Amino acid sequence: MIRINNIKKKYNNTEILKGIDLNVEDGKVVAIIGPSGSGKTTFLRCINHLESPDEGVISIGGKRVVAGSSKKKEILELQRKTAFVFQNYNLFRNKTAIENVMLALTVVKKYPKKKAREIAEELLDKVSLPRERFEYYPSSLSGGQQQRIAIARALALEPELILLDEPTSALDPELVDGVLDVIKKVAKEGITLIVVTHELSFAAEVADEVVFIDNGEVVEKGRASEVLGRPRELRTKTFLRSIQREYSLIG
Ligand code: ADP
Repeated sequence: MIRINNIKKKYNNTEILKGIDLNVEDGKVVAIIGPSGSGKTTFLRCINHLESPDEGVISIGGKRVVAGSSKKKEILELQRKTAFVFQNYNLFRNKTAIENVMLALTVVKKYPKKKAREIAEELLDKVSLPRERFEYYPSSLSGGQQQRIAIARALALEPELILLDEPTSALDPELVDGVLDVIKKVAKEGITLIVVTHELSFAAEVADEVVFIDNGEVVEKGRASEVLGRPRELRTKTFLRSIQREYSLIG
């Protein structure tokens, strides 16, 4: 069980997160939706302390961190329970596809190189990166392929929780579905996921729970079919209408 209580964060005296709570049962998928600038990324980064929250308590897999009073070592232990998938992949540019995944295994898990390579190959197969691309550098790969590598790297860490920050928003439209399919596959394996996304049909299909954040607070949360299909709050309805309009304009 992942417990996140009362997360608050200010930047330059502006309150960005106003006390966010979220509990996630093991193996569940939570989709976070909301307008641009509402604090979704900040919240995700606060969960694993990529960003330090000003207040709040986070427990993941028995590791508990209290904002402001936990030690560096405790924060590191919490971070080791998580993996983060960034919008812009964040791969090492001077490492090949397979080396990017192997690094997680040799440096973090301390596996010998041979074992790390075997596991990295399995993981890259799982995310459907073609074998002939394993030795390519990120700059020679498509965004979709780079994001697949980032997902394989996250899996290599065997985290309790994977945080994904708009994992398909930097991709060319034709590459989005392939990466969403990989995330669906990961979700089916029972790893707990929290994913910030604008892909509402993906959220509807994959998420056990949808959380709508606006202006630094949770406005509405519940089963995906309820929040997306029968939203209670006016702000949720307005947001869903705006995003559908945007998508129908694109499509
Ligand atoms: P979202 O992911 O919902 O688009 P963000 O969490 O990225 O929203 O940003 C929420 C607000 O916090 C925005 O107004 C943004 O400008 C501000 N913000 C985010 N990161 C920083 C930072 N490092 N310093 C100052 N302001 C920030």
